This record gives sequence, C-alpha cells and structure tokens, in this order.
Amino acid sequence: MARSKSKDSRRKTAINNKWAWKWSFLVLVMIFAIVFRLTGLSGWLTLGPAIAFALMGIGIMIFISRKQKKMVHCVAFCPIGTVVNFARFISPFRMSIESSCTGCMQCIPSCPYDALNIEDIKSGKPGLTCTLCGDCVTTCEVNAIRYHFFRLSPTASRNLYLFITISLHILGLGLARM
Ligand code: SF4
Ligand code: SF4
Repeated sequence: MARSKSKDSRRKTAINNKWAWKWSFLVLVMIFAIVFRLTGLSGWLTLGPAIAFALMGIGIMIFISRKQKKMVHCVAFCPIGTVVNFARFISPFRMSIESSCTGCMQCIPSCPYDALNIEDIKSGKPGLTCTLCGDCVTTCEVNAIRYHFFRLSPTASRNLYLFITISLHILGLGLARM
C-alpha cells in the first residue's frame, strides 16, 4: 500500500497536458511568424509580441518551474524545445532502460524534463522530452538507464555525448564573443 502511494505521489510530479501546451505554443509562434511575414510589419511592431512571449517564458521559469522543480519552460513552453524533441529521431545517441530495471521508480523525480514516468519505464526508454541530460543515470542503483551510440559501451557513449555537448557549448560561447 505504502509503495503504491509512493508511486502515485511521484506520478503527480508529471507536467499535465504537456503535449497540448507544446503544440499550442509552437502553432501560435508559427502563426505569428507567418502573419508578420505576410503583412510586412516593421521590426519594431514585431518586437512587442516577441518581448511578451519572452517575458511569459521567464514568468513560467520563475513561478512554475521552480515550484514544480521541473524545466516546465523547456518542456511545455519553448517552441524550439518541441522541435528539438523530434530531432532526437535523427540523432545517433539513444537512451534505454534495460531489463535489469526493478521498477523501483526512484529515477522518476530525478528527471527535470518530465521524460520518466511509469509508462516510460515500462516501455524501456525515456519519453520524447528526454534531453539526454543524464541526471537520472546515477539515481538508478542497478545501472539500468544507459546511453547508446552504435556499438560503443554505455559508458563510452555517455562520455562521447558529454564531450560533444560540452565542446558545442564552448564553441557557441566562443562564436558569440567574437
Ligand atoms: S530505471 Fe532504475 S531507478 Fe528507474 S525504475 Fe528502473 S531500477 Fe528503478
Ligand atoms: S537523461 Fe534522464 S533525467 Fe535527463 S531528460 Fe532523459 S530521462 Fe530525464
């Protein structure tokens, strides 16, 4: 009984209707972009809605993400985040939950991107909002959550992923400062 209550409380940490929110914001931004383009509005007139959208994101970050201890602004709001979620289908990096998983559900609260729930764990892989951040990996006592990159070992795959990600961040920062 205590175990099932514990599972229920973890399930409540999920972001409700995240896909409905994600698609809504993505479609909204696309409509605004198309309307702005077709009407040929000047940069200054388009700046207002852009600033309003950015402030909305900052508000979600401050008032909702912090409270829920999840990246709600990334998972349910940011249109780029939604596009990136689908880019994973062309990424050679994968993450799986192996058959050694005991179903303890300890990893669920560790995922800031709402990509681990009971159904995801049963399906053997994190949900579509997984960013491969790796926060959940060390919470699994049986090492059931693993990175994959072609024939490399899970550890080598993770190290390669970290190397590439960190390198790209450094490159981006370097370019931004040029
Ligand atoms: S992946 Fe690991 S932490 Fe998550 S439910 Fe399975 S055994 Fe538990
Ligand atoms: S790597 Fe783990 S913690 Fe990070 S987003 Fe994916 S499932 Fe969540």
